[in-house]
Amino acid sequence: MPILEQTDLFKRSIGEDTDIVEKEMYTFVDKGVTMRPEATASLIRSYIEHSLHVVKPVQRLFTIGPMFRHERPQKGRLRQFHQMDIEVLGSLSPLVDAELMAMATMVFKELEIHVRLEINSLGCSECRPAYRKNLIEFIEGCFDELCDNCKRRSKTNPLRVLDCKNETCREKVESAPSILEHLCGDCSDHFGSVRSTLESLDVEFSLNKFMVRGLDYYCRTTFEFITDDLGAQSAVCAGGRYDGLVEKLGGTKGTPGIGFAMGMERLVLLVQQQEKEIVADELDVFIVGLGEDPVHLASQLSWQLRLAGVSVALDYEGRSLKAQMKLANKLGAVNTLIIGENELEAGRAPLKNMKTQEQVDVALDPNNLQIILDAVLKS
Ligand code: ATP
Ligand code: MG
Repeated sequence: MPILEQTDLFKRSIGEDTDIVEKEMYTFVDKGVTMRPEATASLIRSYIEHSLHVVKPVQRLFTIGPMFRHERPQKGRLRQFHQMDIEVLGSLSPLVDAELMAMATMVFKELEIHVRLEINSLGCSECRPAYRKNLIEFIEGCFDELCDNCKRRSKTNPLRVLDCKNETCREKVESAPSILEHLCGDCSDHFGSVRSTLESLDVEFSLNKFMVRGLDYYCRTTFEFITDDLGAQSAVCAGGRYDGLVEKLGGTKGTPGIGFAMGMERLVLLVQQQEKEIVADELDVFIVGLGEDPVHLASQLSWQLRLAGVSVALDYEGRSLKAQMKLANKLGAVNTLIIGENELEAGRAPLKNMKTQEQVDVALDPNNLQIILDAVLKS
């Protein structure tokens, strides 16, 4: 997806009264375009534009790429950062909600990162208005003690008061009414099913009735994966359901959707904090060429091997055998193939597996690499 989109797309989807649209977007005011601050809006724009609902009734999509937000840069908070974005369009099933959270959990498990999953439901257009009214009444009761931001937002987007980071506001909202007690029957059933499915999948989570998420388009399930290891930057992954968004952006009425975005830089910071050695990909073969003609043959062989899907490195700088072997070792080469003048003449050379020390005699014929391939792919 493109980095630039019509500014209006983000205003309509994310919402005018959100941190992102209010103060974080890089917008070319003269051209009416904005550098994307997140991926969901663009993805849905594209889903609608290409009628992806016709291709498959349920679309499971992902994208990874840079996002741009004007913020104060600090550890884990950048102006250009990367998100892995996963979206499922076309399914209302609570099983999908649980499946997505389980999938994100799997990523963290795999990387051995400790995060906790917090979930909430924001209800729908049936039940949220009544809750909103209730909440506004509550806010009026403590209005004077709230921060200026909350004072302003209490008029336009009162739910945002619930996740204000200001200490006093936090204390105040502690006793605010909970959305979970105002859910309509359908939303309540849906959320119940999300929770029981998570339990059946052994995904640990806790309820956070104050998590409203910063974006306007969410409804029903919302979730965040939180860490205690990145200071103030505690969210590593966040998402939720947005059943009205496709229609709002001009797509088919009633198309449901849900997705999440994972912050790659925060993920990397958490992996680095583990101080574990990260093993780079192995190199299949290092070809040592000793002398001008052997290096030419090595170059030909390497190219054919690469075309066949084998990773190859070699030295073009005329280094000694010892220096090249050192390099091979540094690059983690599983196999080495040494070609000197004698091997060139004989048309054969030993391919050595550096782990097992096994050797196979192979033909040095760029047009017949089968023996080399067999040996390399076996190792
Ligand atoms: P925060 O509360 O930290 O500002 P957010 O609610 O604005 O996060 P989302 O819009 O939900 O974040 O984006 C999803 C994920 O993208 C976040 O959980 C985070 O990991 C990552 N992310 C968001 N903004 C930034 C940023 N400026 N720099 C690095 N990562 C970011
Ligand atoms: Mg933010």
